[in-house]
Amino acid sequence: MKLKTLAAASTAWLAALALLTASGFTLSTTYISREVGGLFNIVREVRSITQLEIHLLSHERESARIALTHLPEHVRARDAARRELSRWLEDARERPATADSAGVFEEAEREIERYLATHTETHEHRQGGADAMVSHDEVDRTFAALERLLAGRLAEARIARGRVDEVNRLSEMVSVGAAGMLLAGVLLALWQLRRCVYRPLLSIRAAIDRYGAGSHDARAPQGGLDELREIAVAFNEMAAALAEQRKRQLGILASVAHDLRNPLAALKLTVDRLRPDRPLPREEQLRPMLARIGNEAARCDRMLTDLMEIARIEGGEIELRLETRDACELARDVVELYRPAATAHELELSLPDEPVPLCCDPIRIEQVLNNLVANAIKYSPKGGAVQVTVASVGAEVAIAVSDRGVGIATDDQRRLFERYFRAPSSSRVAPGVGLGLWAARRIAEAHGGRIEVTSAAGKGSTFTLRLPSASGAPRA
Ligand code: ADP
Repeated sequence: MKLKTLAAASTAWLAALALLTASGFTLSTTYISREVGGLFNIVREVRSITQLEIHLLSHERESARIALTHLPEHVRARDAARRELSRWLEDARERPATADSAGVFEEAEREIERYLATHTETHEHRQGGADAMVSHDEVDRTFAALERLLAGRLAEARIARGRVDEVNRLSEMVSVGAAGMLLAGVLLALWQLRRCVYRPLLSIRAAIDRYGAGSHDARAPQGGLDELREIAVAFNEMAAALAEQRKRQLGILASVAHDLRNPLAALKLTVDRLRPDRPLPREEQLRPMLARIGNEAARCDRMLTDLMEIARIEGGEIELRLETRDACELARDVVELYRPAATAHELELSLPDEPVPLCCDPIRIEQVLNNLVANAIKYSPKGGAVQVTVASVGAEVAIAVSDRGVGIATDDQRRLFERYFRAPSSSRVAPGVGLGLWAARRIAEAHGGRIEVTSAAGKGSTFTLRLPSASGAPRA
């Protein structure tokens, strides 16, 4: 799993949860506020009904007083009660009634109107005499209708309250559920973080610590998130590459030590014959011995110089001390250097008639040519011709070194210039470390040139060093 996926999944989970909770709360709040609106209306209706009852009673009481006293203030009070009755009836009509309560309200309304009408009628019939009184049955019926209306409204209020309680319970359940899901989500995310991030990180750190403490076979377990797995893979590859490099470096040391032992053994043998306790050989014997000592010492010196050169090139930039030299001269010097030692080989030099000027660091170019000629000799163990050819090709100078040795398989040719690479076919033939061609290519490139190879297994190889000519112009 990728870090992005984990983060996206957690965010989506939290967002869905937040959305669910928010919409739950919005819905319940809207519902409750609607119910509260309904309850408020019921309360107002109850108030209207109560007012109707009060004023009905007051009207009835004042009518009774008028019948007894005929006092005008009771007439006024009764009329006032009647007006109030009409006003509260109007008020009650304005309240929105449910389908159930509408019937009951209409009945109560009818009763009140009937009561008022009967009262008016009675009053008119008894004009000039005792004031009118409506029968008790009429009043009781009106009261009963109002009481029924009141009971209906109160029942509705109770039902609405029950609904609000239900919604409250539901939103409580939603909150508890959301909290539970949030907790579960957080625990799941923590568990995933621990499994996919924390533990793999700790293992990678432990592997790095072990590696740093010197345990070179320490490797990081490749688990957890893709990104951490990639880090672990990169660390393991780096550790494996370092281990391989270390192995090669040890191999180089062993190989250099081995290569140095031959000239040193020859030196030791020769010097043994010159021990102080032995008589000195005659001059004609002594001279070749001293020459051999000189040759072997020069060989050791060359090997160590080459090694130091390679170490310097490996360590950083190549510093060139450029001067214009004749490529023919450089090639001749190298061939002459190897001619005395390469007794089994015919070293041939093919040069143009005119000098071939080359702007180069002559020491570096000689190093390259030394390596190519030494390889040509080394990898043609049966002897044969080693040909060094200098030519001007267009704006380039080409110095080719050909041999008729073991050759190089086509697949290996692509890797020849890699550090420490040795072709299996030729590495069986002679010792080496696989750094010479790598250094040669870097030197050629530092001069703005390149090295090319053509080879056929078992038939021989040609290495061509191509450098820009000092004149720059193509030669005829
Ligand atoms: P070394 O010779 O020390 O191994 P080089 O870098 O000079 O290192 O050469 C790298 C490899 O290229 C050699 O190990 C050998 O396998 C191959 N090689 C180079 N020159 C020749 C050649 N003339 N003939 C056959 N193989 C060669």
